[in-house]
Amino acid sequence: MQYRRLGRTNLHVSAIAYGGLPTVFQPPDVVIEAINHALDQGVNYFDLDEGGNQFVPEKVYLDGASKIGQVLKQRRNDCYLGVKSMRQTYEELQHDVDLALERLVKGTAREVIDIFQLAFLDSPEKVKLVLSKQGGLRALEEAREEGKIDFILATAHNPKTLLQAMETGRFDVIEFPFNIIENEYLNQVMPLAEKMDLGTVVMKPIGGGQLAGLYDLSLRWILQHEVDCVIPGMRNIEEVKKNVVFGSRAEPLSAQELATLEKLGKEVGAEYCHRCGYCMPCPQGIIIVGVMDLMRGQMLTLDMKKRSYNEVLKKRLNSDPANCEQCGQCVEKCPFKLPIPALMQRAVSLLGDG
Ligand code: SF4
Ligand code: SF4
Repeated sequence: MQYRRLGRTNLHVSAIAYGGLPTVFQPPDVVIEAINHALDQGVNYFDLDEGGNQFVPEKVYLDGASKIGQVLKQRRNDCYLGVKSMRQTYEELQHDVDLALERLVKGTAREVIDIFQLAFLDSPEKVKLVLSKQGGLRALEEAREEGKIDFILATAHNPKTLLQAMETGRFDVIEFPFNIIENEYLNQVMPLAEKMDLGTVVMKPIGGGQLAGLYDLSLRWILQHEVDCVIPGMRNIEEVKKNVVFGSRAEPLSAQELATLEKLGKEVGAEYCHRCGYCMPCPQGIIIVGVMDLMRGQMLTLDMKKRSYNEVLKKRLNSDPANCEQCGQCVEKCPFKLPIPALMQRAVSLLGDG
């Protein structure tokens, strides 16, 4: 396994790290076997999501976390942990740090969360709140002073808001989507991270499954760039075995391989939502990013998606894609000019209850 220095944290993390979100719906024995195998193969960074799809009705974070929590009782010294919260305020983050400590590392050899992540810093309003006196970042800075966490990470799907967070100098590590389609981070985010000596963690290495057909090329393309680690999601031991090989031999792509990957990226990119949120708000109250997520998500079965769409998105959040009036405002604001109204119609026919 190749290890790379995670910027100014000075932690050395495995080039292939572990994306924990897909463990959520797996049985504990399957996940524990996968995590143990990953550790045996030298994977030493575990990026634990909050379980965080807000359209999953059940709260799943604790379930996913408790699975790794069991492994950590024996192997806490073998790895670093990244724990995520999507919440924003001072009180919420105070609570989430204590919850993570309680669930994950209490009673283990090292009772500290290595990296705590402020996730989904995707809108300027959220970044502003998080950075303010009432915001969650202050809670994390205090937790660091108290020895509860070591480093602070900012995650975003929007290069502009990520830059806004980075420029404060209050974060040690950043996490962002990066693949042949979502390569806009090459322009400013990655050079600034290098200049500021921030650690870089890559999520969505196969574009939420859209690049799965060229899995190996996609991972190798990412690893040939200046990033510290990639966190493919891994549900079971087979997926761990498939991924860890790239941690030790990830040769740069040949010109022909690059052309093949670029071709697929271009095809998929025509309808690929980057989750940047520039298209919102929609005058009809449609949470466009949420609809896109639900259509593309790989973790939920069609039945689960339909339930989330009808019960959560439409009823609870009052966001019904059927209300799209084709006004085109969203398309105008979308940097990738995605055919959003047509995609909303597709969501209605795929997921609507008729
Ligand atoms: S085209 Fe539809 S989804 Fe887009 S802003 Fe208008 S109403 Fe909202
Ligand atoms: S539809 Fe376009 S603007 Fe909206 S989140 Fe997706 S990529 Fe960004």
